Amino acid sequence: MPESATYPAFPVLMPVYSRTDLWFERGEGVWLWDEKGDRYLDCVGGVAVTSLGHANPRIAGALCEQARKLWTVSNVFYTRAAEILAQRLVDLSFADTVFFQNSGVEAWECGVKVIRRHFSSIGKPERYRIITFQGCFHGRSMTAIAASKAEKMVKGFGPLLDGFDVVPWADIDAVRDAVTEHTAAVCIEPVLGEGGIKVASVSFLRSLRDLCDEKGILLYYDEIQCGMGRTGKLFAHEWSGVKPDIMCLAKGLGNGFPVGACLATAHAARGMTAGSHGSTFGGNPLAAVVGNEVLSIMTEPGFLDEVARKGEHFASLLDEITARFPEVFAERRGIGFMQGLRCVPPFADVITGLRRNGLLAIGAEENMVRLLPPLVITGDEIDQAAAIIEKTAAAMTG
Ligand SMILES: *Cc1c(COP(=O)(O)O)cnc(C)c1O
Repeated sequence: MPESATYPAFPVLMPVYSRTDLWFERGEGVWLWDEKGDRYLDCVGGVAVTSLGHANPRIAGALCEQARKLWTVSNVFYTRAAEILAQRLVDLSFADTVFFQNSGVEAWECGVKVIRRHFSSIGKPERYRIITFQGCFHGRSMTAIAASKAEKMVKGFGPLLDGFDVVPWADIDAVRDAVTEHTAAVCIEPVLGEGGIKVASVSFLRSLRDLCDEKGILLYYDEIQCGMGRTGKLFAHEWSGVKPDIMCLAKGLGNGFPVGACLATAHAARGMTAGSHGSTFGGNPLAAVVGNEVLSIMTEPGFLDEVARKGEHFASLLDEITARFPEVFAERRGIGFMQGLRCVPPFADVITGLRRNGLLAIGAEENMVRLLPPLVITGDEIDQAAAIIEKTAAAMTG
């Protein structure tokens, strides 16, 4: 018997996701069509990725035009598209410098390297530890799972990289207690995503900034999910005015094209000299033109104000539904188009019900159903989404 025959059948796609049996073929704006031709209102959006809608014609146009000109060169050369995107991100943020990567976790991990290199370059290599928060999600690399320490992510993958101290969410006293002479930085999602849609308060972020300044440590924001317009500001921390030293972006930056970015002040990035980091594909012209088109759309006058206004409308409808169906929804949390409903029944049952009624949603920790519609959703489509959620809740109450 050949050795392979002793193994059970294994799916060709490694089964690390429990996938829903839906096979998508086409998208337009907030809508998705599967192979059977059934249409769904997409409030997953690739998990906060397709913020400007599926198959956005302007972005597709920019991508196709670039695809006929130049796909990639090594980062040992320049391309105008990447230079322009970096300059625009710098102009729009606290940062002085940007490194492009291909995904969220790579961009996040680049920030970890920036932090460690910063302290090594100022002669304090003993400062290498980073404080993170319970429920945080920074991706699935060995470094990122070590930063979260969540059982479901780390189980069987040890030994874990050392250097992360997890404290309870948004607890300033816990952060203060965790700071030692080895602490280099604090890393936080200004709006916690996978961990259950929790908005860090302005006062907490202010206290965190003050604490970091007092202790001489760096503040690192993971805005991979909450950034790029999702909350109604280009970056979620703009609601607080509290600036970080480092920030990572991905998801919405490429609207579905893989791109990530690590932004930093010149001070924070002082250790990142030639040869210290790299990427084959990072910042390739395809990704860069997509990022540029995304920024062009999001920075058009009124665009983000409209997102904030529509997001508030969406939240108010969700509040009404939550109040009407307390047997189904215990609480709404979120800001802009980063909304979560804490469920009373298992969230998976609610998601299944929504899907049967034509709306796609995704879960999060703390029994949350997460709703992350494209930012271009219209008022009418928001009403349709709310009607489906209401109908689903009513059926679950019956
Ligand atoms: C999605 C996400 C990541 C990881 O991004 P990938 O592109 O999947 O590697 C990191 N941090 C946050 C907050 C995220 O939401």
